[in-house]
Amino acid sequence: MAGKVYLTGAGPGDVELLTLKAARIIKDADVIIYDRLANPEILEMAKDGCRFVYVGKEDGRHTLPQDQINEVIYNEALQNDVVCRLKGGDPFVFGRGGEEGAYLHEKGVEFEVIPGITSAISVPAYAGIPVTHRGVAVSFRVVTGHETPNKEASQIPWQNFKTDDTIVFLMGLHNLGRIASKLIEIGKPADFPVAVISKGTTPQQQVVVGTLENIAKKAKGLPTPALIVVGKVVKLQDQLQWFNPNKSE
Ligand code: SAH
Repeated sequence: MAGKVYLTGAGPGDVELLTLKAARIIKDADVIIYDRLANPEILEMAKDGCRFVYVGKEDGRHTLPQDQINEVIYNEALQNDVVCRLKGGDPFVFGRGGEEGAYLHEKGVEFEVIPGITSAISVPAYAGIPVTHRGVAVSFRVVTGHETPNKEASQIPWQNFKTDDTIVFLMGLHNLGRIASKLIEIGKPADFPVAVISKGTTPQQQVVVGTLENIAKKAKGLPTPALIVVGKVVKLQDQLQWFNPNKSE
């Protein structure tokens, strides 16, 4: 009989943003299969003898192809009772957890999903940016920034981004300039507010605030993981900034 696989959200970085359920499974796991995590300290919670398998996902790009990762998870499930498949943030928000669950379903392996606190909401929150705010933004979108904006067959509905809803781009740092230009091209003002947040919720958090016009220049060289927030909510940072790990004074 195969064991059970837990598709587990590790949260955005701050260890305390782990759910109680995720912490329990990490402590119980016989093996933990993980990607690059914003906080590797989480692995220190594992029991003695727990094995760690790194399947190296960087910035949304798997160094190991997804079908091989599926195989790794399946093979570990054949040999262990408790398999923790640990993913940054939430496993179903650009985490490919759905594909892994579907593969396990096909193979008849039992699995459970443990949602995590996604970086899409929590990282802006740690930068003092609420993704919605009465009178400022009535909705927010979470969009992949991995796709090159001018790609012919873009799957991203750029024309829908004309509204004032908040847009959070994940995996987009390397496309920041192209994303900003594209948003200006569809009609957003060049001085529309943008924030880029690097290593959010950790002591290394850095926040750069600018406009569509200047953000690429201002955020140059920021380390990953980083996400982009586009919207008037960015301005609320002036009043809501509460987490300043790098403040020297
Ligand atoms: N499943 C994850 C997202 C996976 S895609 C989640 O729910 O959070 C990976 C992208 O998430 C990164 O490219 C980056 O855009 C974002 N990200 C994850 N952790 C982050 C952090 N601590 N700070 C800033 N961005 C982060």
